[in-house]
Amino acid sequence: MRKAIIAGNWKMNMTPEQAKTLVLELIPLVKDAQCDVVICPPFVDLAVVQPLLERTNIRLGAQNVHWEQKGAFTGEVSADMLKALGVMYAIIGHSERRQYFGETDEKVNKRTVAALAAGITPIVCVGETLEQREAGAAEKVVRAQTLALFKGIGAADAARVVVAYEPIWAIGTGKTATKEDANDTIAVIRGVIEEIYGKETAEKVRIQYGGSMNPKNASELMSMPQIDGGLIGGASLKAEDFARVVHY
Ligand code: PEP
Repeated sequence: MRKAIIAGNWKMNMTPEQAKTLVLELIPLVKDAQCDVVICPPFVDLAVVQPLLERTNIRLGAQNVHWEQKGAFTGEVSADMLKALGVMYAIIGHSERRQYFGETDEKVNKRTVAALAAGITPIVCVGETLEQREAGAAEKVVRAQTLALFKGIGAADAARVVVAYEPIWAIGTGKTATKEDANDTIAVIRGVIEEIYGKETAEKVRIQYGGSMNPKNASELMSMPQIDGGLIGGASLKAEDFARVVHY
C-alpha cells in the first residue's frame, strides 16, 4: 500500500510574514492527517517556516533545486543548502518552469538526481498541454517525460521519487481532468516505470494528480486506485481549503 501524499505548491506567493501566518493556521487543521502533508513555500520563506514545523506532521518542500552542489550559478539553490534548512521535498520540472524558464527534460533529470543524492524527495511534474491532449498525444508526451526523468537512476532511488501528473490545461484554470482520465494517464506513467524497473518498484512509486484539485473534487480523485495524492496550487494558499484536501 502506498501512503497518500498531499503537497501544497505556493508558487510565488507569501512573504515570510504571510507564510508564518498561513503555517500557524494550518498546523492544527492537519495534525490528524492520515496522509503525508508537504508544503512548498518560496525559497525566502523556508527558514522562517522550518522552525514552526518542528514537532508537527507537516514536511517542508522547496519549489526547485539545482543539480550542482555550489559555484557560479547566480540565482540558483543547491540540494545541500535546502537540506541544511530542513527541506525534505523539492518540486522539480513544474510546467510553469518548463514553460517560462526553459526547463528541459535533461535539466529535470539532473535536478532529480541531485535531490536524491542529497536525501531530498523529488516531486517531479509531468503532463501534457491541451493541444497535445486534443491531438491524442497525451500518452506519448508523458511517456517521454517519465522516461527522461528516471534516466540513470537506480531502482532503489527510483522508488523514492514522487511523480506529479499535471495536465497543463488543468493548472490554475479551474478545469480538472476527469478522475478516469487522470487515473488512466497515471497508469501509463506507472507502466513506464514498470518497463524500466519492474513491477515491484513501479508499485512503490507514488504518483500524484495536480491541476485544480480542491476541497470539492479531492475525494473523488483520491478514490481512484492509481492516484496516490495531489499537488495543490491555488487551494494550498488558504489553510482551510488545503486542510480539507488533506482530509479528502
Ligand atoms: C500546481 O501548481 O501544481 C497546481 C496544480 O496548481 P492549481 O492547483 O492551482 O491548479
